[in-house]
Amino acid sequence: MNTAPEASLMQTTPRLEIRNLKRHFGGRAVVDDVSLSIKAGQVTCLLGPSGCGKSTTLRMIAGVEMQDSGEIYVDGKLICDTIFRVPPERREIGLMFQDFALFPHLSVADNVGFGLKGAKETKRARVEELLARVDLMRFIDGYPHQLSGGEQQRVALARALAPRPRIMLMDEPFSGLDNRLRDGIRDETLSLLKEEDTAVLLVTHEPEEAMRMADEIALMRGGKIVQQGAPYNVYNRPVDHAAVAFFSDTN
Ligand code: ADP
Ligand code: MG
Repeated sequence: MNTAPEASLMQTTPRLEIRNLKRHFGGRAVVDDVSLSIKAGQVTCLLGPSGCGKSTTLRMIAGVEMQDSGEIYVDGKLICDTIFRVPPERREIGLMFQDFALFPHLSVADNVGFGLKGAKETKRARVEELLARVDLMRFIDGYPHQLSGGEQQRVALARALAPRPRIMLMDEPFSGLDNRLRDGIRDETLSLLKEEDTAVLLVTHEPEEAMRMADEIALMRGGKIVQQGAPYNVYNRPVDHAAVAFFSDTN
């Protein structure tokens, strides 16, 4: 008889799991029965055309928008359904949005340290660690207006990661940057995210970005996830003609 432990068969609990999320606006289902699960250290891209419900999905996970139905779990624990709701500031979620600007009146160090609690020295050490990691230590006492768009974006990433969020939600974070900068920042962001061992949900309407950054792509259209899998599979085995058109579109 095989008495080997079944550890290899056990699934690790996903860091983030959403089940059957729905949200209506004006009688229209904008997010229509969306389910996803993401492990720590994994990047999932929610990819789809403008207006398909990506940002609304992210906002519900962040807790700034309420779902009509469905549940959200973090490390297997319910954080939100239609009755029970952990407030946004207690969800241990990092946010990075295109228009989520730095505080102009705070130094770079204070921006990065903004969400940190605890002793001054510990906070300072974490700020320095992250600024070194994004190669911006020279700006530690500078102010946002002294930085280029790409540098500000790296500070925003450091700020979002500083409190060691369990989950990072990123909504088109690179779309304000010019093409020349974007690839470098995408790669740098990705390696930092992997080091921090957080589960990442990255929203984008650009197939190229999803192909570059995702471990898994969830292709969304009209409020629904129409296909999900490894980038290679989603790209090479499109689910229908609309998926082919979306991937071949230059957006
Ligand atoms: P995406 O991020 O994929 O571009 P959104 O989630 O922002 O899509 O929006 C999906 C749809 O829901 C859009 O048609 C948008 O106009 C609509 N929508 C989003 N927020 C609201 C709201 N607060 N009130 C009414 N309609 C909304
Ligand atoms: Mg959006």
